[in-house]
Amino acid sequence: MSSDYEHIEVPDSGEKITADGDELSVPDEPVIPILHGDGIGKDVGPAAQKVLDAAAAATGRKVHWMEVYAGESAREIYGEDVNLPDETVDAIREHRVAIKGPLTTPVGAGFRSLNVALRQTLDLYANVRPTYYLDGVPSPMKAPEEMDMVTFRENTEDVYAGIEWEQGTEEVQQVKEFVEDEMGMDDIMHDGPIGLGLKPISEKGSKRLVREAIDYAIENDRDKVTLVHKGNIMKFTEGQFGTWGMEVADEEYPDDEVFAAPDSLWEEQDEVDIPEDAVMVEERLADAMLQWMQLRTDEFDVLAMPNLNGDYLSDAAGAQIGGLGIAPGANFGEGRCLAEPVHGSAPKRAGQNKANPTALILSGRLMFEYMGWEETGQLIRDAVEQTISDGKVTYDLERQIEGGEKLSTTEYADEIIANIEKLS
Ligand code: NAP
Repeated sequence: MSSDYEHIEVPDSGEKITADGDELSVPDEPVIPILHGDGIGKDVGPAAQKVLDAAAAATGRKVHWMEVYAGESAREIYGEDVNLPDETVDAIREHRVAIKGPLTTPVGAGFRSLNVALRQTLDLYANVRPTYYLDGVPSPMKAPEEMDMVTFRENTEDVYAGIEWEQGTEEVQQVKEFVEDEMGMDDIMHDGPIGLGLKPISEKGSKRLVREAIDYAIENDRDKVTLVHKGNIMKFTEGQFGTWGMEVADEEYPDDEVFAAPDSLWEEQDEVDIPEDAVMVEERLADAMLQWMQLRTDEFDVLAMPNLNGDYLSDAAGAQIGGLGIAPGANFGEGRCLAEPVHGSAPKRAGQNKANPTALILSGRLMFEYMGWEETGQLIRDAVEQTISDGKVTYDLERQIEGGEKLSTTEYADEIIANIEKLS
């Protein structure tokens, strides 16, 4: 473990967070790496940092931030072809808890997603996104307050593992020939140019994610964990995720604590005798889930799913409670947390001091809560909610609120800070 970084400046004071397994030991004044990110990250990053500082100070705490670099900022500092410096990964690994803004990923060609690389390299296997309604936020739904869901998205495998071959290459031809000639599947793929990819779903990846979701449900008095997959079509990957998930529920917990609903894909559970206070674990198909989430919102509680389903479903859930500008998230591994908002770098809104920093601020709340700073986290939520219900909002919410006051990113952050001071 080293603090001899080339470009990262280590704060003069503050201490590292340490961990024994999943147990964190958080000093009074921790050093926390922060990566503002690309595009709107340059607007929302500094604004969110100010709000988090104010909330920490108001609850008698202090963070010593350590800025780290990736994407555009890394290319500027380390050189044109360095997107994710080793020392950024090392610093986040060494300090265990960190927060990042969005990073741009080129479509079709260029480098792989830096977000995915960070999650995989640091084995941050669960992407957790709480989706709850904040009073005053405009929503397309009739009853947005019914949404109070937490999604657990597997973070390290599925089609995001990055095992794919580009059309026209020798490799893609080799894979095609192997599948057709060796595996005997010669009537499936079209002739001519083709791209191919693999979808790995493992027992280890599936079970630890589902375990994490069930443990969360138990600890937070939630009623139900829904495993969301597309196992009717992708039987040996998505379907197996469901099977392994149900095995965790069935075999690893006492029945009166966790109840594995039998045949939940096809049978109504109304008649089933579920032990009082037990967390029910059920399965649902991903396509149907997207409509139930809108039509029967209050029936869902904690969702656990493979990577791609999680990506789609958490954005859709975010839209129900007002959009990506306010949807927070965090990635967790053993004794590790990398908080990050659901949204990306929104290039067309970048550098204009107009993007909504709420998602990043509420991701900071998640990070603080993981560190045991619940009071700081609650103050952040209350101050954000107060600001929005006063009608003081950024452009994305203002265009949907009658009579709302449109603020810039920095003005909005200052308004939240004023509310932190009032509420503390
Ligand atoms: P996006 O950056 O999330 O933005 C899509 C749209 O959502 C924006 O144009 C804007 O809508 C709205 N939006 C997102 N964040 C907002 C905020 N903070 N405040 C207000 N509005 C916000 O998605 P994208 O355009 O598909 O992706 C852009 C880049 O980000 C891509 O390179 C992608 O790979 C990357 N990305 C990174 C992450 C990550 O770092 N974890 C996640 C997702 C995407 P309006 O245009 O309607 O205002």
